Amino acid sequence: MNWDVVGHEKAIEVLGRAVEDEARRSHAYLFAGPEQVGRATVARAFAQALNCTLQPSPPAPLPLGEGSSSSGLRDEATASPPCGECRACRTIAEGKHPDVETMTIGGLCDESEHKDHSKDKSQEIRICQVRRLEHVIYRAPFEGRVRVVIVDPADALTAQAANAFLKTLEEPPEHVVMVLITARETKLPETVRSRCRRIAFGGAGREQIESALRERWDAEPEMAARLARLAQGRLGWAVDALNDDGALDDREEVLNEIEELMAGGDKERFEYARMLGDRYQRNSDAVRDLLGVWSDWWRDVLLTASGKEEMALASDRLDTLRSHASEYEVEGAVRALRALQDVQQHLDEHASPTLALEVMLLEMPRAAATAR
Ligand SMILES: [Zn+2]
Ligand SMILES: [Zn+2]
Repeated sequence: MNWDVVGHEKAIEVLGRAVEDEARRSHAYLFAGPEQVGRATVARAFAQALNCTLQPSPPAPLPLGEGSSSSGLRDEATASPPCGECRACRTIAEGKHPDVETMTIGGLCDESEHKDHSKDKSQEIRICQVRRLEHVIYRAPFEGRVRVVIVDPADALTAQAANAFLKTLEEPPEHVVMVLITARETKLPETVRSRCRRIAFGGAGREQIESALRERWDAEPEMAARLARLAQGRLGWAVDALNDDGALDDREEVLNEIEELMAGGDKERFEYARMLGDRYQRNSDAVRDLLGVWSDWWRDVLLTASGKEEMALASDRLDTLRSHASEYEVEGAVRALRALQDVQQHLDEHASPTLALEVMLLEMPRAAATAR
């Protein structure tokens, strides 16, 4: 019996103890770490463990003084796991348990003129959604033991909404546990962060992802190896790509686009920036993913320029990588990667997306043939 989660042993150890012993449970947790590494999966498993009705009783603690240390004797990932089969576990997995809810962009509010924001193009969690939550949260759980609220992504709370939410964080009802999920921790007000118990999430190792894809998602060995390499720790990305036939082709197309653009001049760069800026208004996640491919590409150029081409992700593009590496050298690749880092921050800070993207593309080095 275990938590049915790939990796994250440390997080599960802490959360398992919180399930076993109410005195060690916080009312609010901050799950901090990159997207698609499994933060929401662990949050859901935690909600299951807190409400599972068939949970095996925790093993009796070892008498003090016995064994070499008090911890580490037990397999950590087996601490108070949810059964996965009782009604509570199943409805939580399906997102239908009345006491477990995720507050997210486009979710419910209870103001008569709005009610739900799924149709507006909001990229934020609004104050009216927090107000609705305040009404719900003080009610005792309907079916379970603990009301669990997952805020994902917590950094999407507007300043106003975060401020309103702070009141709930300051005086949480006894029966509530809140999990705030974020990849951009510094965007959350310090007042909010300081009231949460922080749990750091990192990516999984390549081998861990590869074997999980094979054993749990029935991937062919060759595909599992390829996706694990590209995933760079993000199991969620690998699983999505496995289920989406076009994902790897799309990635190849973006790489072709990048190589074409780097061979072009400023005019093409401006056009591309405008196109991405427009797309960002409609679907910011898609543009963030695309910028991730840009970073992968420049990282490959950097590795190739530093004589470590065997570590490049796009191992099937070594010829072009080599010619770009000799063109831009280490210095140019570092400059480009810095521009990519800056653009993430500028986009987060609500600068005009097109402007931020133009700056990024103009800061990237130019090939000698196109430099002016
Ligand atoms: Zn259960
Ligand atoms: Zn509303």
